[in-house]
Amino acid sequence: MGRIEEFLHKREESNLLRVLHPATYKGEGFIYFNGKKYLDFSSNDYLGLSQHPRLKKAAKRVIEEFGIGCSASRLLSGDFDLHHCLEEEIAKFKGKEAGLVFNSGYQANVGIISSLCKRGDVIFSDKLNHASIIDGIIMSGAKFFRFRHNDLNHLHTLLKKERGKFKTSLIVTETIFSMEGDKPPLRELVRLKEKYDCLIMVDEAHATGIFGEKGSGVVEEENLTEKIDIIMGTFSKALGSFGAYVVSSEKVKQYFINKCRSFIYSTALPLPIIAANLESINIVKEESQRRKYLLENCRYLRRRLQEKGFNVRGCSQIVPWIIGEEKQAIYLSNLLQKEGVRAFPIRFPTVPKGEARIRFSVTYYHTRDILDNLINVLSKTDQISLH
Ligand code: PLP
Repeated sequence: MGRIEEFLHKREESNLLRVLHPATYKGEGFIYFNGKKYLDFSSNDYLGLSQHPRLKKAAKRVIEEFGIGCSASRLLSGDFDLHHCLEEEIAKFKGKEAGLVFNSGYQANVGIISSLCKRGDVIFSDKLNHASIIDGIIMSGAKFFRFRHNDLNHLHTLLKKERGKFKTSLIVTETIFSMEGDKPPLRELVRLKEKYDCLIMVDEAHATGIFGEKGSGVVEEENLTEKIDIIMGTFSKALGSFGAYVVSSEKVKQYFINKCRSFIYSTALPLPIIAANLESINIVKEESQRRKYLLENCRYLRRRLQEKGFNVRGCSQIVPWIIGEEKQAIYLSNLLQKEGVRAFPIRFPTVPKGEARIRFSVTYYHTRDILDNLINVLSKTDQISLH
C-alpha cells in the first residue's frame, strides 16, 4: 500500500479521518446541509457580526471603489492607506503603540514566532497551544519545552532548569484556549517572565471582542497590556470577518515588517475585508451588550449542564463537553445531528488522545430558549450509549 493510502486507512481505522462538510448556507445561528436546517454550535462568529449590515455595507463600498484584490504584497504595491488605518485602530483598541495586519491568524503565529526566535533561543509553550503556535515554534529552530496546561509549577521548574542555557527566551500562551474554553493564569505568567527575563506573547484569537471592559480581550480585562510584549489576535472569530493582527511596540512592528516571512511574502489582505474589520471594531466598542449577553448565556448553559452531570469545561463562549473515546464522540455528534444540532467532534491530534470532545461554540444568536432546547437534546442523547 502506498504511503498516502496507508495514512488514510490508518486514520479511518482509528476514527480520526477528517472529511469536509459543505454547507449550503450559514447565518443567524443556523447552518444548512443538503437542504436541512440545523442549530449551529460550530461557528466562531461569537458576536454574530459576520452577517451584520454595517460590515456588509463597509465591504461593498470599498469593492465599488477599489475592486477585490490588492494585487501585490504590502511591501510592493499592495499597501493602502486603509491597511494603515486598521493598524492604527487595532493598536488603539488594544492599548499598544503599534499594530500590524496579517492575512490570517495561522500566518501571524507562524511568522511572528519564527522571526522572534532562532537556534540558540528557547520557547516555553502551553501544551494546549494552537497548531499555528506549534508550527511557528518548529519553524523557528529554537529549543522548546511544552509546559502542562496552565501549570505554573511545571513552567517554573522548566525555567529554573533551562532558561540560563539560552539567549532569547519566549513564553507563549493563548488567553482563551480554543478547545478548552479556559484562561491562563496570566498575571503569574507575567511574574515568571519578569523573574526569568523572557519575552511573553499571547494569542487572543478567541478573546478579542468578548472580554474586557472595551471588549479588546483578556489582556485588557486583567490590566496587563503594558506587561505583555506581543499580543496577536484575529478578525476571523468574534469580529466576524477575516485576517489577523499583532500589536506591540513600534520597534517590534518594524522588526516584523523586515523579518517576518509570512508578512513579507504574501499578497496583502483585500481592502473590502480591511473595511469590514474596521467596522467590526466600531461595533464591538459601541455594543457592549452583545458580549455581556453572550457571556451570561454561556454561564447559564455551563451551570445547567454541570448540574445535570455533564463533564463540561471552560469559562468562556467555548463550552467543551469531554467525552473521552473518539468513537463515542463521533457517535454522539451524529446523534445530535439527527436531533437538528450541529456540533463537531474534536479528536486527536487537535486534542490529546482519550480526550475527544464535542465543542459547543455559543454565539449571540443562541437565546435561552435555544440553549434549553440544546440541554434537552443533550440529556436525551447522553442516555444512549454506544456500548
Ligand atoms: N490561534 C488560535 C488560538 C486559533 O484558534 C486559531 C484558529 O483556529 C488561529 C490562531 C488561526 O486563526 P485563523 O483562522 O485566522 O488562521
